[in-house]
Amino acid sequence: MKLVDCHSHTVHYSTDAAQSVDELIQDAKAHDLAGICLTDHYDKDVNYTGIEHIFDLPDYFSHLDQVRSAADPADPQLYIGIELGWMPHLTRLFNEIIATWPFDSVIVSLHNMDGDKDIFVDRSVYDEGAYAAYSRALTQMVDMMSSCPDFTILGHYDYVSRYFPGQTTRMDYAPLAKEFDAVFEHLIIHGKALELNTRTVQKFKSQGLAGDQAWPDPAIFKRYLELGGQYISLSSDSHQIGQAATLFPEALEFLKAVGVSQLTHFVSKKPVLTPII
Ligand SMILES: [Zn+2]
Ligand SMILES: [Zn+2]
Repeated sequence: MKLVDCHSHTVHYSTDAAQSVDELIQDAKAHDLAGICLTDHYDKDVNYTGIEHIFDLPDYFSHLDQVRSAADPADPQLYIGIELGWMPHLTRLFNEIIATWPFDSVIVSLHNMDGDKDIFVDRSVYDEGAYAAYSRALTQMVDMMSSCPDFTILGHYDYVSRYFPGQTTRMDYAPLAKEFDAVFEHLIIHGKALELNTRTVQKFKSQGLAGDQAWPDPAIFKRYLELGGQYISLSSDSHQIGQAATLFPEALEFLKAVGVSQLTHFVSKKPVLTPII
C-alpha cells in the first residue's frame, strides 16, 4: 500500500525549511509515497529566526496550483495544507484564513503556550518540570481546537516534549490520563485526526533514546482507539530533502502493534482512509 505524508515544509514559505516544492515531490517519489501534503508554517507573531513565520497566501495558492497543473501524473499527489501555530489572540485571524482558502488539510499546532511563550526558545515553560508543562500543553490544545474548529489534524501533540531542556522525557499516558482523554474526546466528537509525527521520534533517537523509548507511549494510541478514535495521520514533518516519509516503515509496525488498521489523509478537508493491514 502507498501512503500519504501529511505534514511537510518548504523553503519558499517556511523560514526554517530548506527544500523546494520540486525537491519535496521528488523526495516523496523516492520514498514511494502516494502523496504529500505541504503544510507550511503560519506562525503569526513568531520571529525567532528574525523574520515573522508567515507567508503570502495568494502566492502560495497560485504557485502550488501551478505545480499541480503541471505535475507528471506518475508523481505523488501534492495536497495543499497549512500548519497554523495557534495562540489565543490569533483565533479570529486563523478562522478567517481557514474560511477563505481551499485547503486540503489544516493542521493546528501548539508551538507557543501559556499565552505567547515560544516552546522552542523560552525555557521558562518548563519551570515547574516536564510533566507540568505537558499537562498545560494538552489542556491548551483543547482550547486551540475549540477556538479553530474547522481544522483537520492536531499537529504533534508531543511537541512540548521535544524541547524539554533536561534529560529527554517522553510523554507517557498514565500521568496525563485526564488531559489526554479530554484531547481525544474533542478529536473524536468532531471527527479530527491525531497525528503520529516521526520528527519527534527522530529527535528522540538522535538524543540517544533507544528502542521503544523513542516512540510514543503505546497507551496513548490505544486509548484513542478505545474511546472510538478512527483517524490517525502519519507525518514526517519534513523540512529538508531526505526527510519525507522519515521512519514510515517502523511507524507502520508501531501503529499496527497498537491496533491501528487505517491511516487518514485529507482531500478538501474530507478524510480519506488507507488500510494498513
Ligand atoms: Zn518547522
Ligand atoms: Zn509544528
